[in-house]
Amino acid sequence: MHDAGEDVYSSLHQRFKGDLLRPGDGGFEEARGIWNGMVARTPGLIARCAGVSDAQNAVRAASKIGILTAIRCGGHSLAGFSTCDGGLVIDLSRMREVTVDADARRARFSGGCLLGSVDTATQKAGLVFPSGVVSHTGASGLILGGGTGWLTRRFGLSCDNVEGFSLVTADGSVVRASSKENVDLFWALRGGGGNFGVVTEFEVKLHPLTSVVLAEGLAPEGYIPRLLASWRDFMAEAPLDLKWNIDLRLAPHTNKVPAELRGRPVASSSLVWTGDPDAGWPYLNRALSMCRADSVSSKVVSFLELQTMADTSFPHGRRYYTKSGYFTNLDDGTIDRMAEAAATIPSSETQIELAYLGGAAASVVAGETAFGDRSAPFIMNLLANWSEPSADAANISWIRGLFNKLRPAMKPGVYVNFMSGDEQDRVPEAYRERWERMVAVKSHYDPSNFFRLNQNVPPRK
Ligand SMILES: Cc1cc2nc3c(=O)[nH]c(=O)nc-3n(C[C@H](O)[C@H](O)[C@H](O)COP(=O)(O)OP(=O)(O)OC[C@H]3O[C@@H](n4cnc5c(N)ncnc54)[C@H](O)[C@@H]3O)c2cc1C
Repeated sequence: MHDAGEDVYSSLHQRFKGDLLRPGDGGFEEARGIWNGMVARTPGLIARCAGVSDAQNAVRAASKIGILTAIRCGGHSLAGFSTCDGGLVIDLSRMREVTVDADARRARFSGGCLLGSVDTATQKAGLVFPSGVVSHTGASGLILGGGTGWLTRRFGLSCDNVEGFSLVTADGSVVRASSKENVDLFWALRGGGGNFGVVTEFEVKLHPLTSVVLAEGLAPEGYIPRLLASWRDFMAEAPLDLKWNIDLRLAPHTNKVPAELRGRPVASSSLVWTGDPDAGWPYLNRALSMCRADSVSSKVVSFLELQTMADTSFPHGRRYYTKSGYFTNLDDGTIDRMAEAAATIPSSETQIELAYLGGAAASVVAGETAFGDRSAPFIMNLLANWSEPSADAANISWIRGLFNKLRPAMKPGVYVNFMSGDEQDRVPEAYRERWERMVAVKSHYDPSNFFRLNQNVPPRK
């Protein structure tokens, strides 16, 4: 049988500076795995680039041969887009340089960086780039889809803090996009995912911050509806310095959790205050007053501690499935449905994740970037997380069933980075009034849809 991976290998191997891994090669097995254990695929070739010219050569060779190609930064695509069966993976994990200009409060970093690579380098200068909450997530995938995290209300989405992109487009050329160059592409790259090319470098704004106040607490099952209603009302008036996320889940069996709550449904609150701690305590104390007193804790933590504290909760190789949506308002009926669902959670790590955006993310005009929805402040992510293939059906059907129950109250729209691989029909919904412009930019830069392993915006035929 014709082997397109071998063809790309033959075309590349004399000039490629990084690693070319084929099935059977040492390191291939490890390199083929991605974060979501539900997605086990075997590419024909993994091209681990050492730099931009490798990425250009890989794109040119793949596009000439017509092989299905996946782009990988951190490999955390929930949908599993950073791998494929039989095709090529352009793997950027060797490209993790970060350069910080402390005086200008700017950084440049390469397309293979994890969030942790960026945080570690920027914190040396006492600065932060606003990104996500798990440090082993890839920066590229997260930023290109939008990027929400602890600092979103204070400093905006990750993509709002990008001033320039360098990318390798489908014909292998290097193109720059910024507010002055290729402005349509600059618009599309801020929320449009991996549709337009291989981003090899980001130029970003940084902000001064080295520590935050972190407060946590649990509300038992019977208090979930009251807690969610109070969160809804409280966040509408909350200062930008406050981020309050709530997970409905089964309380873990750890010493930190009061014995009677362990294994029981709870609302787990995590609050971050980014301003002067003294100004934050009244807000934090008010928010935590709904939690059980013996479950509450608060402390000042370094930014790096904050950014890594959830790392072990989402390990590589477990099985994950997700569905997500926005709410303009969280009505009492929706709250009751969520609270009822908490009682039927099918596995110990599965959760209903709730975050309130608003703040700096909502102050950017909707049409300024391609990113999903800035107006609906409530973002919900139903995330199933389990280990045994025998539990696939129970977890997936629980997520789908709950999503269908909640769907009528949602605002149409979805954040592309929280979508699964079976939701291609929702991609136009993710961009809504921005769809036609996305299609136009895609048609210009990738008319043959070479970059299609993503929440795909097909070019015009
Ligand atoms: C544990 C975990 C925690 C998360 N936390 C957050 C969070 O706090 N906030 C948030 O907003 N999201 C979060 N997400 C979602 C995350 O933003 C997406 O999963 C994102 O796609 C991950 O990026 P990646 O580079 O690791 O993924 P990959 O799987 O490597 O790539 C994802 C997509 O981006 C494309 N892509 C990757 N690199 C490039 C590049 N250099 N150029 C062009 N296209 C590229 C790929 O082709 C693919 O379509 C989280 C996900 C996980 C698994």
